[in-house]
Amino acid sequence: MLVSCPDCEHKISRRAESCPFCGYRVLPPARVERGIPVAPPLEPVTIQQTAKRWKKIQLWGAALTLIGLILGMIGLGLSSPLTGPPVVALLGLLTLSAGLVIFITARVCGWWYHG
Ligand SMILES: [Zn+2]
Repeated sequence: MLVSCPDCEHKISRRAESCPFCGYRVLPPARVERGIPVAPPLEPVTIQQTAKRWKKIQLWGAALTLIGLILGMIGLGLSSPLTGPPVVALLGLLTLSAGLVIFITARVCGWWYHG
């Protein structure tokens, strides 16, 4: 079935993605028929990749938080009333906070960019 190109009015195939005469980009027929506003097909892919990146950072933050928690527990287990909490506990606390900050940042950024 032939339709006329909206740009140059040449008869072109309904299945053609672009007009062979003027290069006008014709929308995919299925979407036009149903009257659905056409979104560029590449965009969702990009968003998904970006979301995946944030999820990866989120995972790193969660891992760091967990490591910090474990280090903190070990540190607290080793601490005695005489010496106070050892370096391991402080290191754990530091790792824990860093992990939490990374996790929350990734979460907020993921939400901010993708709704
Ligand atoms: Zn044309």
